[in-house]
Amino acid sequence: MARLGSWEIDLVKETSYWSEITQNIHEVDASYSADIETGISFYPEGKHRDLITQKVDECILYGTPWDVELLMITAKGNLKWVRAIGEGEFVNGTCRRLYGSIQDINDRKVAELTLLKTLEEKNTILESIDDAFFAVDRQWIVTYWNSQAEKQLGPHKDKMLGQNLWEVFADSVNSYSYHKYAEAIETNQVVRFEDYYEPMVRWYEISAFPSDSGLSVYFKDITHRKLTEIRLNELNANLQKQTKELAMSNAELEQFAYVASHDLQEPLRMITGFLTQLERKYKDVLDEKGKRYIDFAVDGAKRMRHIILDLLEFSRVGRTDDKLEKVDLSELVSEIEILLMNQIEEKSAVIHKTNLPVIGSYKTQLRQVLLNLIGNALKYIKAGIPPVIEITAKEFPDHWKMAVADNGIGIDAEYFEKIFIIFQRLHHKDEFPGTGMGLAITKKIVESLGGKIWVESVEGKGSTFYFTVEKTKE
Ligand code: ADP
Repeated sequence: MARLGSWEIDLVKETSYWSEITQNIHEVDASYSADIETGISFYPEGKHRDLITQKVDECILYGTPWDVELLMITAKGNLKWVRAIGEGEFVNGTCRRLYGSIQDINDRKVAELTLLKTLEEKNTILESIDDAFFAVDRQWIVTYWNSQAEKQLGPHKDKMLGQNLWEVFADSVNSYSYHKYAEAIETNQVVRFEDYYEPMVRWYEISAFPSDSGLSVYFKDITHRKLTEIRLNELNANLQKQTKELAMSNAELEQFAYVASHDLQEPLRMITGFLTQLERKYKDVLDEKGKRYIDFAVDGAKRMRHIILDLLEFSRVGRTDDKLEKVDLSELVSEIEILLMNQIEEKSAVIHKTNLPVIGSYKTQLRQVLLNLIGNALKYIKAGIPPVIEITAKEFPDHWKMAVADNGIGIDAEYFEKIFIIFQRLHHKDEFPGTGMGLAITKKIVESLGGKIWVESVEGKGSTFYFTVEKTKE
């Protein structure tokens, strides 16, 4: 045994002996001689000195030998752990001699204490974390079971420590977790997974870390999250189903509008044709009333034609094979100005377009949107006030926001949404002509390009129609 020194004290002759190692351990030189008091004084006051004093006293009085681990302060002031062993020699019931050995156990003791401290720290951590934690050795014997594990899995630590995990949780043998833990050990890889534990009616998120000594398992109760997730998935599935149904009924409706408006054109052409014939061939026979009736009928047929054409257009939105291209909005508005030249001149309208950009989009569809909005701005004007129309564009990171503002009659806030619905009009045809389809078509186009359209307006002052155009990645 390393660094084991011997000593003895003759209580009768009052002499003492310390071997060289004993002297070395105490860090004294060869001339040093000690008695009981000086020997004891090497141990710091308090716990350690009290213990050795008690042991020596007990030995002298009752002959009880001692073997204790103590902290000593050497002559040079160094702290050191020693194992102190001693016993007494008795003659006629009186202790005459004390002798024993002393061993430097500092390295082992410090290592032991450090380990103990680490373990204590680990315990403190494992008990204070919100996760449940347990550890098993390679034979599935439970070596650790923290208080959260007690709470979440049921059994108390005292029931678990030293037990085989699968004997206590026999109902979980062959469960998903069972196979995952085995996988972690076999592959020596961390596994993370979610599992449902029926007896506790709970979902857990589990991480299992394999090591040479076994498996460390952390788990968290995620029941709440999981139930929300399941509910959300159900809702999502429902929503998808509904969206699909809606898309189907929408497609059917569009198909119906297309077929109806397409097929109505032929009989309408017939009506208009025969009415024209009637007017031409029988105008001499007809009286004024008869001629007026024919005029009404022709007018009605004309309006019907407009409605049918608008409906056809509405049903066709999104079906075009318009190409994505660079659209110069300023040029596009100029084209529209030419189309609407008569009205512009007739009403002395002024159209301002400031800094309109070139954007990547679908020209035909954008033209239709702007044509409808500018057309309305020219139509819904205040009597005697020349229309002033302003067209602007504002850039955002992922879209452009366009605005068409006028100084016309304006719209009551109550109708801001309604006007975008098919056939919804706020005026009689004699006041302002129209079918009530323009904004519905416009909205459908804007939305088919991924944008939004809305209006802001003050009745009697004017309206501003806004719409957005998604930026495309060309
Ligand atoms: P139409 O012009 O054929 O009636 P729209 O769908 O284009 O159909 O417009 C629907 C209604 O919205 C119009 O009847 C009108 O009352 C109102 N409206 C549209 N544009 C304007 C505008 N610039 N100023 C005031 N009212 C408008």
